[in-house]
Amino acid sequence: MNVTGSVLEGNKAEADAQQELTDGFHLVIDALKLNDITTIYGVPGIPITDLGRLAQAEGMRVISFRHEQNAGNAAALAGYLTQKPGVCLTVSAPGFLNGLTALANATTNCFPMILISGSSEREIVDLQQGDYEEMDQLAIAKPLCKAAYRVLHAEDIGIAVARAIRAAVSGRPGGVYLDLPAKLFSQVIDAAEGQASLVKVIDPAPKQLPAPDAITRALDLLKGAEKPLIILGKGAAYAQADDDIRALIEKTGIPYLPMSMAKGLLPDDHPQSAGAARSLVLKEADVVLLLGARLNWLLSHGKGKQWGAPGSKKFIQVDIEPREMDSNIEIAAPVVGDIGSVVAEMLKGVGPDWTPPPATWTGAIREKVETNIAKMAPKLVGNTAPMNFHTALGALKQIIKERPEAMLVNEGANTLDFARSIIDMYRPRKRLDVGTWGVMGIGMGAAIAAAVETGKPVLAVEGDSAFGFSGMEVETICRYQLPVCIVIFNNNGIYRGTDTDPTGRDPGTTVFVKGARYDKMMEAFDGVGVNATTPDELTRAVNAAMDSGKPTLINAVIDEQAGTESGRIGNLNPQSTIGKKA
Ligand code: ADP
Ligand code: MG
Repeated sequence: MNVTGSVLEGNKAEADAQQELTDGFHLVIDALKLNDITTIYGVPGIPITDLGRLAQAEGMRVISFRHEQNAGNAAALAGYLTQKPGVCLTVSAPGFLNGLTALANATTNCFPMILISGSSEREIVDLQQGDYEEMDQLAIAKPLCKAAYRVLHAEDIGIAVARAIRAAVSGRPGGVYLDLPAKLFSQVIDAAEGQASLVKVIDPAPKQLPAPDAITRALDLLKGAEKPLIILGKGAAYAQADDDIRALIEKTGIPYLPMSMAKGLLPDDHPQSAGAARSLVLKEADVVLLLGARLNWLLSHGKGKQWGAPGSKKFIQVDIEPREMDSNIEIAAPVVGDIGSVVAEMLKGVGPDWTPPPATWTGAIREKVETNIAKMAPKLVGNTAPMNFHTALGALKQIIKERPEAMLVNEGANTLDFARSIIDMYRPRKRLDVGTWGVMGIGMGAAIAAAVETGKPVLAVEGDSAFGFSGMEVETICRYQLPVCIVIFNNNGIYRGTDTDPTGRDPGTTVFVKGARYDKMMEAFDGVGVNATTPDELTRAVNAAMDSGKPTLINAVIDEQAGTESGRIGNLNPQSTIGKKA
C-alpha cells in the first residue's frame, strides 16, 4: 500500500494514544492482589499516599493508622492468623523506622510480614547529599528481618513482590523488607508488559516432609517414656494443623502444656491439659516433645531448677528450622519439617497398640490441676470495689467461656501474667499477646488485625501502661467501626500505682495520673466509654460491647496496691541494693 509520511505519523500518534499504560503504583497493587493479598495496614504520606488511595480504589482494604508501629504489629498478627504475609506500608526514614520495630518483632516471633516503605532518591541518598528524609533504609532493615529487597525498575515490581512473599512464608516465617524509592511509583510502562511481569507465587510455603528415621527416633523415645509431656508453642498454632494435633494428643494420651499463644489449640479445660500443673510437669517429665515451641527464656532455656535434676529429661523437638535444634541444650530426637506433615507422620505410628502413659503420671497431674484450680476459684469471685486483678479477670474469664469465638488480645505486666493463667481459651489462634520479646505496644495493632482478619468480636485486656504505647489507635478503631472492646486495668501505674519521688519533687517514675479516666478517650471519637468499678459493672459493660459490636473502652478501676514489680518476671529486673533513699 502506498501511504504518505504524514499519514504514517498520524497513525502512530493514534496508536500511542491507544496504547494502554501502567505505572509503579498500579503494578505494586496488581502484584499484591494477584497473590491474594487484600489488606494493607499503614500510615499515608510521602511518597506512598497515592499508593494507599489507589489500593482502596482498586478494592483492597486499606487500614490507615496513627503510628506505623501499630500498623506493623497489625500486619504481623494478620500474618500469624492467616499464613499470608501481612503488609505494612510506611513513608520513608522516620515512618520506616517506626515500622521497623514491628518488622523485627515479627521476625523474632516467626510471623510472616512484609514492610513496604517508600524511600528517597538513591542518587542523593548514596552520595549523602541531604535528601528529604534521607536514609539508607535497605542497609538498616537487613539485619532485622529474613530478607530485604529494593526495586529500581517498574518491570521488576512483580518479581520483587513474589520474592518478598516467598521469603516471608516459606521455611520459618518472618519479616521481609521491600524498599520502593519514590521515583519507582511514577515510572510508566506498557500495560501489557507490566501485566506480563507479574508473578503469582506457586506454593509459597512448600511442605517440608520429615525424614522417616527422624520420626521413628522420636516415636521410640515417646514410647519408652514413663512421664511424657507435649509442649505446644505458637508455631503449632500457626501451622493450622489443629485436628491432627488434637488427634496426636488424644490418641497418645500424653499430657500437654500450651505456651500462651497456643492456648485454645485444644480447649484449656481439656482433661489432658497440664496448664494448671506447669511447675510439676516441667520438673518431673522424662521425655518432652516440643511442637513449635523454642527453648528460649520463656522456657528457662530448657535447664535450671524449673526443669528438675540436670540430665533428667530427653527432648524431642519438632521445628521447621533445622538450626533451632540444640540451640540451648541437646535435642535427643530432632524432627525437622512442617508441623502439619510431621504430626501426620507421627499419627501413623500411633496405632491401637499404643500404650498410654502410666496412670501414676497422668493421675498426679490431674490431681495437681484440680487442686490448683480449686485454690484459685475463690479469688476470682467477689463484687467489691476497687477490683483487684483476680476479681476483674474472674469476670472476663466467664465472658470468654460464654463467647469462645471472641478474639482475646492481652498485654501488660500483671495484667498479662494473671490473664494468661486465669482466662481459659477454647479455640485455636484466639489469643494474641506480647510474644517472644514480651513487648509492650502490640495491643491496638493486634486488636485491629484480629477484628479485620476474623470479623469476630475482640476483647483487648490491657494494662494501663501497655495501652499507652498504642492508645491513639482508639481513633482508628472508632473510624473503621471495628468490634473491639478494650478493658484497661487501671491501677494508676506501671506494675502498681504507689511509687513516689523520694525527693518529693516529681511523680514517682512508675506512676500515672491517679484516677485517670481512659474511657473518656473513647468518647472523644464517638465510641462508647464506661468506667467500671466492680466486676458486675465490668461484666455488664463487656457483654454490651460484645453484643453491639460498638467500639468500646472500659476503664476498669483496679486497686493501686495490687500488682507486683515486673509481674512474674521480676527476676529479670535487676534491683540496686545501695543508694536508695527511703
Ligand atoms: P512459643 O513462644 O509459643 O513457645 P516460639 O515462637 O518460641 O513459640 O516457637 C515457634 C517455633 O515454631 C519456631 O521455632 C518456628 O520455627 C516454628 N514454626 C513456625 N511455623 C512452623 C511450622 N509450620 N512448622 C514447624 N515449625 C514451625
Ligand atoms: Mg498498671
